[in-house]
Amino acid sequence: MSILIVGSVAFDTIETPFARKERVIGGSCTYSAIAASLFSDVGIVAVVGEDFKDEHFNILANKNVDTKGVQKQKGKSFFWEGRYHIDMNTRDTIKTELNVFENFDPDIPENYKQKSFLFLANIDPVLQLKVLNSMKDLKFVLCDTMNLWIDIKKQELIEVFKKVDCVVLNDSEIRQFSGVPNLLLGAREIRKLGPDYVIIKKGEHGATLIGPEGLYFSIPSYPVENVIDPTGAGDSFAGAFIGFLAKQNNINEDILKKAIVYGNAVASYTVEGFSIDRLCEITINDVNNRIEQIKKYIEF
Ligand code: AMP
Repeated sequence: MSILIVGSVAFDTIETPFARKERVIGGSCTYSAIAASLFSDVGIVAVVGEDFKDEHFNILANKNVDTKGVQKQKGKSFFWEGRYHIDMNTRDTIKTELNVFENFDPDIPENYKQKSFLFLANIDPVLQLKVLNSMKDLKFVLCDTMNLWIDIKKQELIEVFKKVDCVVLNDSEIRQFSGVPNLLLGAREIRKLGPDYVIIKKGEHGATLIGPEGLYFSIPSYPVENVIDPTGAGDSFAGAFIGFLAKQNNINEDILKKAIVYGNAVASYTVEGFSIDRLCEITINDVNNRIEQIKKYIEF
């Protein structure tokens, strides 16, 4: 089954306590699409500027990501700069330049509207709603967001959450959105709005799935010893998660739990290199090997 992902395609400047890289390729759509392409066909809808050259399109094309829905506009691509703290788990945004992203109006190509798996990566919830309303035959919708939209467009975000199957948020976003300090209770509050499932991302501490009938599934992250750049871990988690679901073309508790494990494994590779470098190197065999390791680590 094939997937549509709508989100940002960007250039990022990333600073960790150990290194700095200027204007590397990034964006929520980029990471999630490459991760999803390990499992299924992916088409993306995004906007880039004139600085996004053929060499950049080729990176996506080499991963079989269909870029027909990427609009190229006059001006510069979205730019984000982040600086990681010593724990490599928390970061500050130093700069966000929206550039062509400011007037992004996702236009879904006709042949994308039939896709049954949709990942609404982090963009304005008004645009997420527009995309949702364009789709004709959805089977499963996953949705991400960020603190900015919870701050300034909470009502619109609630409208989105009402219409999706699963939301994926990090721990601080769960608390910020729900106003509840306890993560489990906060996730349950969000479920009351509509989504059957809530995934809580906890960075290096793993991920938890909350669902109907008391469903609770939690898994630690693979212990990466040399984290180079955590950027895109959440997006590649989400991309692998929906990629795995689309490959099974079926949704049940067992498949959702496995999808979380696959998301975890892929994200653990992403952080081993800058930008998408490591993510682009791996194959499904690497992912399966890592899952065997994870199994050993949690067996008792
Ligand atoms: P993650 O580390 O999974 O949260 O994803 C980081 C990616 O999100 C980076 O590559 C950024 O380019 C992208 N990003 C940062 N801020 C925004 C924003 N306001 N809207 C969309 N994408 C963003």
